[in-house]
Amino acid sequence: MDADQRTDRKRVLLAKPRGYCAGVDRAVQTVEEALKLYGPPIYVRKQIVHNKHVVRTLEAQGAIFVEENDEVPEGAIVIFSAHGVAPEVHEQARERKLRAIDATCPLVTKVHHEARRFAKEGYEILLIGHAGHEEVVGTAGEAPDNIQLVESPEHADQITVADPEKVVWLSQTTLSVDETMQTVERLRTRLPLLQAPPSDDICYATQNRQQVVKEIAPDCDLVLVVGSRNSSNSVRLVEVALETGARAAYLIDYADEIDPAWLVGVGTVGLTSGASVPDELVMQVLDHLAEQGFHDVAEVSTADETLTFALPQQLKKDLREAAAARAGAAAKLAGTAAEQ
Ligand code: SF4
Repeated sequence: MDADQRTDRKRVLLAKPRGYCAGVDRAVQTVEEALKLYGPPIYVRKQIVHNKHVVRTLEAQGAIFVEENDEVPEGAIVIFSAHGVAPEVHEQARERKLRAIDATCPLVTKVHHEARRFAKEGYEILLIGHAGHEEVVGTAGEAPDNIQLVESPEHADQITVADPEKVVWLSQTTLSVDETMQTVERLRTRLPLLQAPPSDDICYATQNRQQVVKEIAPDCDLVLVVGSRNSSNSVRLVEVALETGARAAYLIDYADEIDPAWLVGVGTVGLTSGASVPDELVMQVLDHLAEQGFHDVAEVSTADETLTFALPQQLKKDLREAAAARAGAAAKLAGTAAEQ
């Protein structure tokens, strides 16, 4: 097909799975339910998930986002974000008598458990991830004396360990699967006894979103990824699209960020979104593309996702008690009405 034939037919390949993962859904619901149950303001340490739109929407409902616990009034409710926190953050919350609700994704908690267990067994842990990312700070805080960060395949060549026979790698949950395996392979050339985590640390949602982008990218002149710049998994989707054949790929928060020049000479647009992106933003991009003549939309699916996570324990308990109190009050009212 020549360039003219390719651009004659304007179409969109819509990736599935895309958007919200189970951990993000749970974290956002946690803030929404807390706002309804306890009333605003509800304090949230760090962005609950890395998405501008989600944060703005929750702020409008009464959530106050802070960087650290010391910005939260003593005794107030604070929610910890999906990315997880180091144990010292829980400790600070206790000292300030904050009522902490932990919305850490259970799949991040799993990596925290692995870090604690391997550290207890005397392993040196090579944590593959990005310096300064909240998830990495939280995981590293579980075993600061045993963890060394490895940021890239190139960085792997500089790593030295005390005992090459007792070393394991773990990773951030939202990395590029392929780049992480390259990093591991380079570590293994110098550390042949390097152990792998008991199960994948890169979570199902990250893997699935990358897989479907790999599927559509070779057919795309342009791939649009809806997501925020500080969203690790969203940024990785742009990289994966470019590495696997898309002629161009961009990250956007909103439809109005699409530069008309990006669509010039484009026949096929691939569209996806990061794990912290509500689907309404993707639908707005589809509407925008339809206005530019891209009416033909085909969804390309490579996996079905059914995983869900229960709300944090503390919140569930308070919701149950509030429901019981409401039921008790309603029964009392009904009894009084019957007596009259
Ligand atoms: S991207 Fe993965 S680890 Fe992160 S919140 Fe979603 S499911 Fe959890």
